[in-house]
This record gives sequence, C-alpha cells and structure tokens, in this order.
Amino acid sequence: MNQHIHCIVNDCHYWAQGNKCEANEILVATDQFSSQQPDRIDASMASQLTPAQAGNCMSTCCKSYVPKGSGKITADNITKMS
Ligand code: SF4
Repeated sequence: MNQHIHCIVNDCHYWAQGNKCEANEILVATDQFSSQQPDRIDASMASQLTPAQAGNCMSTCCKSYVPKGSGKITADNITKMS
C-alpha cells in the first residue's frame, strides 16, 4: 500500500512542507474517543482498539497530532519519517 496523507494542520510535529504528514502511521478517531484517551493510546495500538461510529466528518480527528516543539513527541510511539 502506497498511501499519502495530506494535512493542513501546520503546527503539528509531523507536518511537512507541501501539506504532507510525515508520521509513519496515524490514528483517526472520533472526537469523543480522542478526548478521553491519553497520548500513549495512538496508532501503534490501533489493532487493539474498538471501532466506533462518528456520524459526520466534524466528529473525527487525528489523534496523532502533537504540537510542534512540545515535550509530547515521543509519548505516542510514532516515528517522523524525515
Ligand atoms: S499526525 Fe495528524 S495532524 Fe499531524 S501532520 Fe499527520 S495527519 Fe496532520
């Protein structure tokens, strides 16, 4: 699979010029799930998580977002590819 994730959230640690996501993996989740789970629950644990319905696109988010320059960039076990 040769996926490209495009993202326009440019204060994320994984964001890169050209509106690309350079995380090796991300987790998209419902807003409800993301607001209730700690940073360590992220893409590397995806196969163990229970899927849920969102209802509309505004109720989903990228749980892998990490503020650029924050101390949380290693909490999620995600690797930046460049
Ligand atoms: S981790 Fe999520 S918010 Fe951050 S650049 Fe990738 S898709 Fe965008």
